[in-house]
Amino acid sequence: MKITGLETAILHVPEGDPLADMPEDGNRKRPFVTLRLRTDEGIEGIAFTLYGDAMTGALRAAVDELGALCIGEDPLRIEHIGRKLMAAAGASCGPGGIFTLAASAIDIALWDIKGRALGLPLWKLLGGLRNQVNCYASGSLRRGLSDDQAATAAHRLVAKGFREMKTQMALPGNPAPSDEVRRMRVVREAIGPDVKLMCDINQRWRPEQAIDIGRRCEEFGLFWLEDVVAHDDYPGMARVNAALSTPIAGGEYVWGMAPFRHLIEARSVDIVMVDLVRVGGITAWMKVAALAEAFNLPVVSHLAPELHCHLVAAAPNGLTVEYMPWTLALFEDTPPVVAGVMQLWERPGLGLTFDAAAVKAFRVG
Ligand SMILES: [Mg+2]
Repeated sequence: MKITGLETAILHVPEGDPLADMPEDGNRKRPFVTLRLRTDEGIEGIAFTLYGDAMTGALRAAVDELGALCIGEDPLRIEHIGRKLMAAAGASCGPGGIFTLAASAIDIALWDIKGRALGLPLWKLLGGLRNQVNCYASGSLRRGLSDDQAATAAHRLVAKGFREMKTQMALPGNPAPSDEVRRMRVVREAIGPDVKLMCDINQRWRPEQAIDIGRRCEEFGLFWLEDVVAHDDYPGMARVNAALSTPIAGGEYVWGMAPFRHLIEARSVDIVMVDLVRVGGITAWMKVAALAEAFNLPVVSHLAPELHCHLVAAAPNGLTVEYMPWTLALFEDTPPVVAGVMQLWERPGLGLTFDAAAVKAFRVG
C-alpha cells in the first residue's frame, strides 16, 4: 500500500457548551485543521490538529508540506515516516510548535489507515485492554460563570449521568482565596460528595498561592488539581505536589516525550496528562503512557475524547478521558457515553467519519 495524496481544510467550530448549555462565551469558535490521507488501495485515514490559533494558516501549510513528503510511502511503516518527517523538518524547526502539531495529524491518520487496513479498531490494535472507559464532563463549570450558573450547570451534568466532572479556579478579576473556596463549595454542594471533581488552574497561580488555596480546598476532596503553576516550572509544581494531599495533574502543555521524563522525575505530578497533538500523535502518546506506567503513575487525556478514548482504553494505566465536546460535531457520530462511561466500537481504525454537512458549514479555508 502506498500513500497517494492528501486534502486539508481549516474549520472554525463553535465551542458552545453542549453538555450543560451554560457557555462561558456563546460566540467563541475554535480553529481546526482537518486531514484526509489517501492511499492507492482506496483506504483513507482522517485526522485533525489544533492550537494554530492566529497561525492556523501556517499550521495547515505545515500539514500540507509534511503530507507531501509522505506520498509514495507505505502507510503501515509509521515509525519510518515519523523519522523521515523529523529528519526533513523537525530537527531544525522542531521539536514542538507547529512542526509537532502538523506531524501529529499525519501520525493519527496513519494509525487510522492501519486500523482500517487490518480491520481492527484502534483500541484493539494498541492492546485492547478495555472496551469501555470512564470519562469526565469538561468545558462546562468554567471560571467565567457566576456561582449560580455554575451550580445550575453542575446539576445538569449530574442529571445527564456524569459521575466525574471538571471545574476551574483562578477566577477572573482579583479574587481573594476565600472567593476561590466559595466557588469550590458551590460546585461540591451542587454535585454531592460522591461525584469525582477535578479542578483546572491553567497555570495561573504561583507555587505559594497554589499551596495556600490548595490547602484551603482539601476539604472538598478533589480528584485532582491541574496545572497549578507554569507548565515548565517542574520544581515549583513539585513543591505544590509535596505540600498537598490532593493529587496534582499536569502535562497537557508540554511537547514531545522528553519533558514528561523531567516532569515525572521531578515528582511534579501524580497524574500524567498527555495531549495527543502536542506530544506527537498516537505513537508518542502511547510511549509516554508506558513511561508513566513504569513510574506507577496513571495517564489521562486532554481534549478530543473521540480519539483519546482508544488510547486511554488501551493503556494499562489509563485512568479517565476528558469528555471535552469541542470536536464531536465534526463527525457523523462518536462513541456513546452511558452513565458517564464511553463505550468503544468495533469499527476499524478511529471508527469516525467526518460529517459532510458540518465540515461544509464550519469550513473557512
Ligand atoms: Mg487543563
